[in-house]
Amino acid sequence: MFAPAHFEDESHAQLRQQARRFAETRIAPHASEWEEAGIFPRELYVEAAEAGLLGVSFPESMGGQGGDLSHQLAVTEELILHGHSVGTVVGLGTHGIGLPPLVAYGTDAQRERFVAPVLRGEKIACLAISEPGAGSDVARIRTTAKRDGDHYVVDGAKTFISSGTRADVITTAVRTGGPGHEGVSLLVIEGGTPGLTVSKSLKKMGWWASDTAELSFEGVRVPAENLIGIENAGFVPIMQNFVSERLGLVAHCVAIAQLALQASQRYVKEREAFGKPLVGFQVTRHKLAEMATRIAAARALMHDCLQRHLAGSPNPVMAAMAKNVATDACSFVCDHAVQLHGGYGYIRETLVERLYRDARLYPIGGGTREIMNELISKSL
Ligand SMILES: Cc1cc2nc3c(=O)[nH]c(=O)nc-3n(C[C@H](O)[C@H](O)[C@H](O)COP(=O)(O)OP(=O)(O)OC[C@H]3O[C@@H](n4cnc5c(N)ncnc54)[C@H](O)[C@@H]3O)c2cc1C
Repeated sequence: MFAPAHFEDESHAQLRQQARRFAETRIAPHASEWEEAGIFPRELYVEAAEAGLLGVSFPESMGGQGGDLSHQLAVTEELILHGHSVGTVVGLGTHGIGLPPLVAYGTDAQRERFVAPVLRGEKIACLAISEPGAGSDVARIRTTAKRDGDHYVVDGAKTFISSGTRADVITTAVRTGGPGHEGVSLLVIEGGTPGLTVSKSLKKMGWWASDTAELSFEGVRVPAENLIGIENAGFVPIMQNFVSERLGLVAHCVAIAQLALQASQRYVKEREAFGKPLVGFQVTRHKLAEMATRIAAARALMHDCLQRHLAGSPNPVMAAMAKNVATDACSFVCDHAVQLHGGYGYIRETLVERLYRDARLYPIGGGTREIMNELISKSL
């Protein structure tokens, strides 16, 4: 278990308890079933909202629970640590990347229409930026939105969209202007709009319980009032969103690694070889020590970034560093956890097998390791 960060107070402790209870009762008993099925029941969104978890860090005036990013990350940690299904936590959390542009730049009418029902668990939100031909290079997206009277007509495709197979509120990056980042806007496209289809539900290495979609847009008519903020000014909200998304992914890495460490600690006490438990070998104990050290380092960097964020000066470079450090820690710990479990570590019903697969996403999603290094190197 984690010691709370030094800046956490009673509000965090209470939320951690709520999240733990929800994860233990509503996620953990079904974790393997949902991971194997590649989806979890839609009702879980409503249940998470009723448990006071979905609206954490969103303003109360918009139907949220209040609090800030530190509360949201505390909930994430507990859901992963006690729910044992990273895919479910990913799917439940896509509003965390889909809604912030609406919160920051949306109109009251947009917030009422799109934000509030998502925070009640009645609708699912996601963020659609990546395209088959443009992932890291966001400024090159090609999906167009052309103005036609009081509508935009959207044509193009998106891929790798988490929660995309059943999302109702799709915060979509579109090209409304010329080439480059200056021609990019954000538009809310509602699930079920004619011309929008899920062209493929993607099968993945990990995060199985989270659905991932390829979306196709053919002459999709979207009311112009669904534009978020100003036309051709969508790049800034996209970049701002990345900082908190990356810190969220850092929290994932830290929690996954901690879960893998805990499972390993238990296993090496039970499993015997050569007449003694595995923990009796110094090499085993040193492995555990290295695992714990890397988690502590990643968590310390996460807390540093969080404090900057809460102080009103989020630092994209530090967040990029934290993402790479946490990603490495998570990969290292999960790899060692599988090794400590021996053959059982390679078998599907063993938790660390799943965590090892889940861990592989983090150097790719939310900005790759190389793109983080680009960001960091430019600051040097
Ligand atoms: C499971 C999953 C869920 C996802 N969820 C979402 C989502 O909900 N919404 C969404 O919009 N996107 C989502 N993504 C997309 C994700 O953000 C992209 O995969 C990621 O940004 C990388 O883009 P790409 O896959 O196109 O890789 P590319 O950009 O094609 O990169 C391929 C390789 O080239 C490297 N590379 C690229 N540019 C450079 C450079 N300048 N210097 C050095 N190396 C470089 C990359 O680091 C990488 O190693 C998801 C992806 C996955 C796998």
